Parts: sequence; C-alpha cells; structure tokens
Amino acid sequence: MTNPLLSERTLPFELPPFAAISDEDFEPAFEEALAAARAEIDAIAKCPEAPSFENTIEALELAGKELSDVLSVFFLLASVESNPKREELQRSFSPRLAEYSSDVMMNVPLFERVDRLWQQRDTLDLSAEQARLLELSHRGFRRSGAALDEAGRARLREINTRLAKLGTSFAQNLLADERDWFMPLAEADLEGLPGFVVDAARAAGAEKGADGPVVTLSRSVIVPFLQFSPRRDLRKRAYEAWTSRGANGGQTDNRELVAEMLALRHERAQLLGYENFAAYRLEPEMAKTPQAVRDLLMQVWEPALERAKADAFYLERELVIEGADMPIEAWDWRYYSGIWRRKKHDLDEAELKPYLQLDRMIEAAFDCATRLFKLEFTPLEIDLHHPDARAWEVTRDGQHMAVFIADYFARSGKRSGAWCSAMRSQEKLAGDIRPHVLNICNFAKPAEGAPALLSYDDARTLFHEFGHALHQMLSDVTYQTLSGTSVPRDFVELPSQLYEHWLEVPEVLRRFATHAETGEPMPQEMLERVLAAATFDMGFQTVEFIASALVDLEFHDGPPPADPMQKQAEILEGIGMPSAIRMRHATPHFAHVFSGGGYASAYYSYMWSEVMDADAFEAFEEAGDPFDPKTAEALEKNILSVGGLREPDELYTAFRGRLPGVEALLKGRGLIAAE
Ligand SMILES: [Zn+2]
Repeated sequence: MTNPLLSERTLPFELPPFAAISDEDFEPAFEEALAAARAEIDAIAKCPEAPSFENTIEALELAGKELSDVLSVFFLLASVESNPKREELQRSFSPRLAEYSSDVMMNVPLFERVDRLWQQRDTLDLSAEQARLLELSHRGFRRSGAALDEAGRARLREINTRLAKLGTSFAQNLLADERDWFMPLAEADLEGLPGFVVDAARAAGAEKGADGPVVTLSRSVIVPFLQFSPRRDLRKRAYEAWTSRGANGGQTDNRELVAEMLALRHERAQLLGYENFAAYRLEPEMAKTPQAVRDLLMQVWEPALERAKADAFYLERELVIEGADMPIEAWDWRYYSGIWRRKKHDLDEAELKPYLQLDRMIEAAFDCATRLFKLEFTPLEIDLHHPDARAWEVTRDGQHMAVFIADYFARSGKRSGAWCSAMRSQEKLAGDIRPHVLNICNFAKPAEGAPALLSYDDARTLFHEFGHALHQMLSDVTYQTLSGTSVPRDFVELPSQLYEHWLEVPEVLRRFATHAETGEPMPQEMLERVLAAATFDMGFQTVEFIASALVDLEFHDGPPPADPMQKQAEILEGIGMPSAIRMRHATPHFAHVFSGGGYASAYYSYMWSEVMDADAFEAFEEAGDPFDPKTAEALEKNILSVGGLREPDELYTAFRGRLPGVEALLKGRGLIAAE
C-alpha cells in the first residue's frame, strides 16, 4: 500500500488526505522524504557545472518539497491534536530535522557555490527578486556557520541539535502541565458567574471527564473566571496554577531547560562572531540592534506604568467599597477592573457577549476583506484534521487565490494560544502554487446546539489571525523563501495588528454584532460604550507585555544568566514592576521564546509592529474612509503581496511615504491624549 502522505494528492486544491492518514504513516513518510531531500541537496552541491542562479539558488528553492509537505501535515496534527504517539514522533523528528538543516546550511561545497554567485552578483543580470533571494541565501549560510572551520561547525551542530531537543521538551512540559491541572467547582462556587462562564466551565468539565464544572488553564476558560469570580480564594488558586505552569518541580519543570538554552544560544552567537544572542538575532530584523528595541520599550514603559498606577488607585477603591481594605493582588486585578469597567463604561462582558457570535465575526472578517481586497469566500465540504475545523475557497474575480482553514475551538491536546500557519505557501517557481492557510484559535466551545459566543478579546484575536492569513493569501512572488509572512519577525505582526482596527470600525460592528437570540444589531449606545472602552485597562496590558519583552531582551543581551529566575526578578525590580501585575508570560511558560525560539529576543516585535499598525491605519483615516480603495491597493501592492521582497523599512516607506513615530501607538493605547 502506498503511503497517503507521499502519494499524489487527488483531493481538491491538493489538500492533504487527512481521513486516510494514520499515525503509523508518519515515520516511513518522514524517512523517505528526508532521504529524498538529502539526495537533492547533495546533487546541487556536487553539480559538475559552474554555479548559476538556476542550478544553485533556484534548485535550493525546489529541494525538499516532499519533506515540507509531510512535515506541514505532521506539525499541524502534533500542535492541534496531540497524543502520546505524536509526541514521541516529534521528539524523534525534531533533532533529526535540526541535524538535516545543519547539514544543508553548513555544507561547505554548497556554500562555496552560493558564495561564488554572491561575489559575482553584479554581473549576473538578476531581477530585483532574484538579487534579494541571493542576498538572503548568502546571509542565511553565513549566519548558520557555513563559513566556520570544521571544529566550529561540529560544535554548532551539537548546539543546534541540543536546542531543538530542549525546545520540544519545553513545549511538551507546558502541554502536560496544562492538560493535568483543573479545579472542580461546586455548585456554590458558581455563584456570581455569568451564564457563559458557567457554560464554559461545564463544557471544560465534560471535556476533562469530570463530574461537574471545572476551571482549566486554557486562556478562554481561566481569564473569564478571573474576571468574574467573586471568590478571592478560588481566583488565587487558579491564578497561581496558571502562572506556575512549567515551574511545578518534577519532570515537567522548565527552569533548568531555560538556563541551558540561554547558555547555548550565547555560545552559538559568539561562535558566529556576534557579541551575544540578541546582537545575532536582531541583525536581520527591522530594529537591527538591542538598543533600538530597548529605546522603544522604554519610551512606552513610563506612560504605561503611570497609567497602571493611576488605574490601581481606582481598583483599590473598589476593594475598600467591598470592605476589604488591602492592597490589590495579581489575582484580583482582572476582577476589580471588570467591576470598574462596568461602572465607568457601563460595559459588562456578559451583556456584550451575545452580540459577538463566532459565525458573525467570521463573516465580518471576510466582509472587510471583500471590501478592501475584493476577496470572496465559499465554504468547502471536505475532510479536515478535526471535525471542528472548517474550510473555504478564497477567490478574486473568479480566480482561485487560496484555501482558508479555520480551527477555532479549544480542546485537550491542542497547543494554547492562537496562530496562523500555511500548510503550503504561495510561489510560482514550481508552478502557480496558491497557499493553504490556517487560523488556529482556542475559543471556548459552546454547549451542544448553542451558538459560539466570543469575548471582545476573542473577536480581536480572530481578526488578528485573519490579518496574517491575508498576508499569505494575497502573496504574489516567485520564490517561496520570500512569500507571504516570510518577513522579519518585527514586521510580521503589522498585517495582523492592522487588521484588528477594522473590528473597531463602527459600521462593521453595527452590521455584524447582532444578538444571538433576537438577531437585533448592537444598540448604538452600547456600540459607543464598546468603542470608548477599547483603551480600558491598557496600562495593565502594556505593563504586562513590556515586562515580558524586556526580560526576553535582557536575557539575551549579555552573558547568559546562571539563574534565569533570579535575573528575571532583578530586571523586573529594575524597572519598578508593580506587584499587582505580573509578566504576560513568565519565563517557565514563555513558549514564544523557549519552545522553538522563534521569538527569542524578539517578543518586542508585537510592539514594534504596533508602532506601524497604528500609523498605517491612520492612512485610511486620513483618506476619510476605512475602506478607501486607493489606500487598500497601496497596502496590498507595497506590503501584503510582496512578502520579504525588500527590507521592511523600504516596504513601509513605499506604502506610507515615511517611517512612523511612537505617537500613534501611545494615542491608540490611550496612554497619551489624542488631540
Ligand atoms: Zn500575530
């Protein structure tokens, strides 16, 4: 029997045959595809002809296609539908992939070919896109150690393999801590909780196989619980479990892994000739240097801290009103800020929620894309990786643009958080390939037959991930390496964060925020309250974010700390972190930075991108229409369709005519007054 992962794809749009794939297929498919990829690389390195752009750079682009097809399916399933078998496979694949990647990127004859092309670049008559690809390829080899001597390459290889292993363990430990912990709620513990929180707790209980409602560590369950439960003791217990993920001692403790990873990253950076990991990591980013990052974070830190302190004063007043005269603690903040929000803006999450139906919010995200970029969405009836997942065909003027797959509900075995990935990226080298784009979220699943309702934050997340999806769907380049979201990390959040702004356009809410039972649109005065409350509690949110971003930066900008937890405490003390607010992600569960390391010394990039998204949306405001066709066209032409074709500052300047300052962000977050 042929392996369904390797056989020709016969489903519409060449989607993977999920229904035919079993866990037993992965190992043999992986072996075969990996061997094929190695043979292809070998053939390029040993090519008897003199190096040309086609026989070297383009050949590299085309190598390993089968492997990436197998892995895109495997990693999707391992992250959204994990099981012990898949975890075991991931543990065995990840060091071997790191080894393969080292073998390619440290292949001396291969690098010599790329290097020769790089030396001749001015005489090769390359297009702008080809020149960019050659530049990135050469830089990639250099940054991966291809120019090192043999001993250096051998050590680098060891470091890479070890880091890959540690990153996988970090993620798996976190998943285990999230899966194992839950807090049963007795009927009396439900008092004061709005219906949707009770429903989510009951659904979580059913999912865990418990007798009654439970609180789990899934953000969509625990955050509403912290917002609404009047029971300080329960809030404290849940909060402490949530914030000690990865730091519970025993087999799933991540703290020692972190120390080792930081030391290995530092060693790798020095081996490659950089002062430390942050200097190495930031070189290809828009920010370029640790100091540029620190400058941005500190420009925002002071106003954010001031705002949070002012807010704490009001929250503590609520405690006094309740007769509890004590300082506010971390497990209190969300609860009292909810009470204060209801007073100040007369806005109650429970009152708002019936207006934010998942299906209507999907429609809203689609409709904005239709108005801005003329994209149309048609549901597809097709077997996917899980019954909760749905797919649409995306077209423009009748032309196929992409397949969009969304998997919105939380469940056990699904990695927490929300993200966008592509199972296949846009390119034209291997034919006119259009992307398969995924949005994965962790919204609370409704009870059987009830409509799925979102919090306002959830709705923003949906728009955010859809913004990333657009960056993939609108991509129009030749080479996959430059396609879609293949841009520097501190630029990649621009399309996603920018898209969140359309949720706040009043006419979008008016049309799509309709009541789940009555179908009535959100009343005008409520809509005004929602928009007015958009910057509510931004002091808290900004402080918890910057604290995480700074700890991440300082961990990597200097010699590695022997005791990261102590270093974390020192950094927080140094910036005057208020005791009632904690890091958005503390080190032992900071998956952005330690599971795989994609955001290592780059967590700041959300804020860096926000500087641009606030300023970019102002372009639509200045045009007097949030759907201004000319501005949308400029956005697509200069940013959304061109991936990593040019340096981000050039892309942004092409769109806006200049680079942005920090003011639009401070205004957008309500940290300084808008004029
Ligand atoms: Zn994002």
